[in-house]
Amino acid sequence: MSNGGSNSSQQAATHLSIDGLETYLECPRRYEFAYVHELAGDAADDRVRERVALCRQAICAALGSAESEPDAIAAVALERLDSLWAEYDERFHSLAQRRHERAVLEATIREYVETVGTAHAKQCGRLAGETGGELIGPTIPLARSVGVSPPAGPTDGEPALEIEAPVDYVYGDDDTIVGVRFVPTCRSLGLLRYRSSWTGDVSALFANHFDPARDVFEPGPVAALFETSVVLEGLRNLCDRLELDRRCRYVQIPLAERSSTSVNWVRGTVEAAIEPTELTDVYVDDITYGMTHEHRNETVDDRLESVVDRLASGAFDPTDRWERIRRNACPDCPYTVGCEEYVAAEVEFDG
Ligand code: SF4
Repeated sequence: MSNGGSNSSQQAATHLSIDGLETYLECPRRYEFAYVHELAGDAADDRVRERVALCRQAICAALGSAESEPDAIAAVALERLDSLWAEYDERFHSLAQRRHERAVLEATIREYVETVGTAHAKQCGRLAGETGGELIGPTIPLARSVGVSPPAGPTDGEPALEIEAPVDYVYGDDDTIVGVRFVPTCRSLGLLRYRSSWTGDVSALFANHFDPARDVFEPGPVAALFETSVVLEGLRNLCDRLELDRRCRYVQIPLAERSSTSVNWVRGTVEAAIEPTELTDVYVDDITYGMTHEHRNETVDDRLESVVDRLASGAFDPTDRWERIRRNACPDCPYTVGCEEYVAAEVEFDG
C-alpha cells in the first residue's frame, strides 16, 4: 500500500491521497498498479493536469498580490503565466497548437477573474486580515484521519490513515470559509453538478454504487462526496487552529472544460466559460445535521471509513464487482496488458 505515490509497497502507509482513493473506487487493481507499484498511467491526462497546474499557479499568484481590480488581477496572473509558459516544455504537434493552448489558458484566466476571481481576491484579503496570514496555495493541505483495522501482530496505538484533499485557496466572509480546488473538469461529478441536496437521487446513487445487487457504477460522484467530507473536516480543523467560528463549504472550479471553450478560428479568438460547482449541499444530510449541528453526513463518513479500511488491508482483487469494473473501468485503463483479471477475461471471451 502506498501513500498515493511516495511510499514503497513494503511500508505501512500513513497517508492516502484523495486521487488515490478515487482510483481505488474505479478499480482496486488499478489502484495497486498506480499507487502501490507506482506504474505510470495515462499520459494524455497528465498533460492536461500540467497545463491546469500552470493556470493554478498563475491565478494563486494574482490572488496573493495586493491587486483588487479585475484588469490588475488578470494582468498579474497573465504575467505569471507568461513566465511559467516560457519554461513549459510539452511537445505540441505544431507551433500553431502551442499558441492555441496558451490562448485557451489566457482566456480561462480572464474568465475566472471576471466571474469569481475578483470577488474571491477581496475575500481572500479580508480573511488574511483576520487570520494574520493568507490561505492561498496552490496547495493548502487539508486532511482527515480515518481509523483502520490493526495488522496482525503487535502494534503501537490505534492505526489510522490520513486522507489528504488539498485545496488551492481559502476565502471567507462573515460566517463562512470556503475551500476552492481547481480541477481540470467537473465531468466526473456527474449528477452532483445538477443537484443541490443530498436527499433523493444523490443519496440513492451513493447507496446503489455499493449495492452488489445493482448495476450502478459511479466512482466519480462517490469520490467527490468522500473528498467533500475530507475537505470540510480539514476546514473545521483549520477554523479551530485559527480560532474562527465559521461554517465550512467546498467548491470545485474547472479550468480545462473543453465543452465550455469556444474558438473562432477566423478571428483567432478563444472564449472560455467558468462554472464553479458547490459540493457542500449535496454532501450534508439533514439527519446528521440535526444530530450534530455540523455540516456532516454519517452515511458518507461511515462508508468512507469502510472503504479506507479495505484499501489499508490490501484488498485489491476486483472480482467481487467484476462485471461493473470490466464494462466501465477496463475500456480506458492503461494497465490492461499487465492485468491478470483483464487478460483472463479476454482469453475466456476469445475462446
Ligand atoms: S484492466 Fe480492468 S481490472 Fe485490470 S486494473 Fe484496469 S480497470 Fe482494473
